[in-house]
Amino acid sequence: MSQKAGAESTEEQHIKRMADLLRQGSTLTELACPVCASPIFRLKNGDLWCAKCEKKVIVVKEEAELAKITSALSLETLEVTLLAKIQEIQEKMQHETNVEELQKLGTALSGLLENLEKVRKARKA
Ligand SMILES: [Zn+2]
Repeated sequence: MSQKAGAESTEEQHIKRMADLLRQGSTLTELACPVCASPIFRLKNGDLWCAKCEKKVIVVKEEAELAKITSALSLETLEVTLLAKIQEIQEKMQHETNVEELQKLGTALSGLLENLEKVRKARKA
């Protein structure tokens, strides 16, 4: 009697599933499954997944941290965008001789600076 084809040990299946997850673009996290202590994967949709339990893992603290990081990142991006725009306007102002245009640029600049201040405050909060 030979072993049935395709009958793999749990460990082999686990490894195969982990390899599949990686191939699908999931990433390995530093977290361990609270049930089986296996490494946890982050799926492309952001879910945390244990390949051994074949279950979604909810790590409350980590999710909260992630939300904080995500919002900090978008604020940082916003700050960089604002700074780039401010610089752009500054350069235009240096070469602009038309008073009306200068006024327009000045208004735009003060609006951008106001927004920058708001973003910086939000980042500190
Ligand atoms: Zn598990």
